[in-house]
Amino acid sequence: MKLVTYRYDVTERLGAITEKGVVDLRRAARDAGVSEEPFASTMSFLSGGDSLTKEAQKLLGAASTGSLVPSANLRLLPPIPRPGKIVAVGLNYRDHAMESGAAQPPKLPILFAKFPNSISGPEDPIVIPVGGPQVDWEAELAVVIGQKGKAIPAARAFEYIAGYMPLNDVSAREWQFGDRQWVRGKSPDTFCPIGPHLTTRDDVPDPHSLAICSRVNGRTMQNSNTSKLIFNVPYLVEFISAAITLEPGDIIATGTPEGVGVFRKPPIFLKPGDVVEIEIERLGILRNPVVAA
Ligand code: ZN
Repeated sequence: MKLVTYRYDVTERLGAITEKGVVDLRRAARDAGVSEEPFASTMSFLSGGDSLTKEAQKLLGAASTGSLVPSANLRLLPPIPRPGKIVAVGLNYRDHAMESGAAQPPKLPILFAKFPNSISGPEDPIVIPVGGPQVDWEAELAVVIGQKGKAIPAARAFEYIAGYMPLNDVSAREWQFGDRQWVRGKSPDTFCPIGPHLTTRDDVPDPHSLAICSRVNGRTMQNSNTSKLIFNVPYLVEFISAAITLEPGDIIATGTPEGVGVFRKPPIFLKPGDVVEIEIERLGILRNPVVAA
């Protein structure tokens, strides 16, 4: 299932993309005479787990045209509008670790934080901060947590995952490297576009076999596959949750492959007027224009 969060009038709604268009899941639940509450928001839905996913699929099968959202009224928001936290992983593809000048790939995951203010939607611009601190793209597979968990063993990690989506780990290189730790360079407003939708786990049999690429103004910059992740998704869930409680809506940004702008010769940075696309097989295309602050 492809889940979207969208704005209708002034309210945020949860929808699912079907061949006929976007279905308002809350309306579909009302029409079917079942409780609307679990379908009122993305967060309430994620907390419902696999049984709610199955119920939603039934609703979609029976959805009337009355539950279709008129496309003129549809404005897509980030699939997870307010994640509690975004845990990101550095240098998790060998080729990217090498292009960054690392002598060898990391032996353990390198974790860093992107603050939730950086979240941005599939229809929003990436805003270059005043000073133009060398703004770069990073195509990443994002894992969205569905169930609360601590000390989750890798063997059970998928039970805690709601689904997957493309994420652009936009980075201000001057600040990232100049500060000697990464959080300011990784967390400016709009620096974490996600979407266009959240694909539920049941539709992604293997998150480690997905083509992943980025394009700037149509030119391919990164072209890889999630099979090249050094630390795979279950390992990351185990490693992170050993220390940090993961909660519904939390996002893990799993790292980027080679081909970012800063390590190109000559380097390329984003400028106003550019359009950046992150495409992941099965998960869709995240497309954001770039503007100046
Ligand atoms: Zn990254």
